[in-house]
Amino acid sequence: MCYSSSVPTTKLFIDGKFVESSTSEWLDIHNPATNEVVGRVPKATQEEMLAAVDSCSRAYSSWSETSILSRQQIFLRYQQLIKDNIKELAKIITLEQGKTLADAEGDIFRGLQVVEHACSITSLMLGETLPSITKDMDTYTYRLPIGVCAGIAPFNFPAMIPLWMFPIGMVCGNTYLMKPSERVPGCTMLLAKLLQDSGAPDGTLNIIHGQHAAVNFICDHPAIKAISFVGSNQAGEYIYERGSKNGNFVLYCVSQGAKNHGVVMPDANKENTINQLVGAAFGAAGQRCMALSTAIFVGESRDWLPELVERSRSLRVNAGDQPGADVGPLISPAAKARVESLIQSGVEEGAQLLLDGRKVQVKGYENGNFVGPTIIGNVSPNMTCYKEEIFGPVLIILEADSLDEAISLINSNPYGNGTAIFTTNGATARKYTHEVDVGQIGVNVPIPVPLPMFSFTGSRGSFRGDTNFYGKQGIQFYTQIKTVTSQWKAEDATLKSPAVTMPT
Ligand code: NAD
Repeated sequence: MCYSSSVPTTKLFIDGKFVESSTSEWLDIHNPATNEVVGRVPKATQEEMLAAVDSCSRAYSSWSETSILSRQQIFLRYQQLIKDNIKELAKIITLEQGKTLADAEGDIFRGLQVVEHACSITSLMLGETLPSITKDMDTYTYRLPIGVCAGIAPFNFPAMIPLWMFPIGMVCGNTYLMKPSERVPGCTMLLAKLLQDSGAPDGTLNIIHGQHAAVNFICDHPAIKAISFVGSNQAGEYIYERGSKNGNFVLYCVSQGAKNHGVVMPDANKENTINQLVGAAFGAAGQRCMALSTAIFVGESRDWLPELVERSRSLRVNAGDQPGADVGPLISPAAKARVESLIQSGVEEGAQLLLDGRKVQVKGYENGNFVGPTIIGNVSPNMTCYKEEIFGPVLIILEADSLDEAISLINSNPYGNGTAIFTTNGATARKYTHEVDVGQIGVNVPIPVPLPMFSFTGSRGSFRGDTNFYGKQGIQFYTQIKTVTSQWKAEDATLKSPAVTMPT
């Protein structure tokens, strides 16, 4: 393919240098608002990927022994540099991913909070001690890094999800190989530059690009001790399977797709609930794993539907860098076609289209991947639009006669990423939080993504692995425990003969 020299290429980041790939295979990066090619990203060659992992392996011996205070200082500088560069990072996200600039800043901010939390590593990595477990004997544990770790990221949060991965892995003393989404690599590259400027030594973070070959390389390389993945179910199952088979000591933390339900009780604060639903269904054009894509209206709350439709209709669909834009484009023409066909499937299977965003026109951006806010009512659980994760600005409406019916519907769904209930009744909220089988629950909070002192705890079909991202569980994921039992006897207590029986 012939490219104009003005199309920038994404570099690899190997051993502290931003280098041009020698590959002959390149992928285009598109601006989703126009579908213009705004960059190219390489499919890294086998030699380049090997150089990257070798660099991680070499850097590990000194990085893992670098004092924890020095590692902490680097991440303290890093959080400041991310803040200083938030506008620049947001511009790259909007260009490559399409979300609005304000939403892109939110994407960075939620990742920044994880970096800030990583700065507490001096407390987070403390071990345990128990003195005098027997005479003159003490036991204590160290939390130690595990080696070279790797992260495979999706397109929908170009800043937040990579920042869930390498800062926590590295602050624990591991070195890190990142593979950003090939559709939105630019933000990770600037994040890598800022980390280097913060003082991270060469080789502690390496970045490769590509698709399946890069993923297979990560799954198969024996030096890689832990893999973190966020993305679709299909890729997640594959990576979980392949990595487990090939690794000697591979840990997983896999977050996958979602279908999140919001339950609207008739006693909820109506104005608040409608605004929350609209924001959580259509923000980021519905391309959030925690988007509230399904609402269950219980009893008389179904009367609020006309207002929900009007409020949704009023959102402004536009390119993400345009002032006042509420809803940006979808990532690709294929994503737009898929979303539109799932809307059509609802129509054909007997649902009621209450708001149809398929014909939306955005002046000046006629080639963009836009779908306007869409609401499908009268949906039943056997319909395709309910069973599949739509990942677009589409809100599915179901109705239930009671809270019990709503809970049973949600618990029958295979996914368990997030859910929310809207109510003013504490007992209703308590019953819901105890009975619903979903990992992250909001009470009058539509997108309950936990802050980094907690962990991201999606469950059931939305999660595979041993521990969760960030928080205490993130530290657990990226460390191993060494337990030391030591005895210091006074000289006169020296053993007089070998102890051949098991000590009791
Ligand atoms: P994706 O699975 O297509 O891609 C994720 C990563 O996997 C990319 O780096 C990609 O190169 C790689 N990949 C893609 N297909 C692959 C395959 N067949 N084999 C091996 N590797 C493959 O996901 P996406 O479209 O970039 O992101 C959207 C998805 O991510 C949605 O399903 C969303 O729900 C999910 N997601 C989940 C969470 C969560 O925490 N549960 C968070 C964000 C996104």
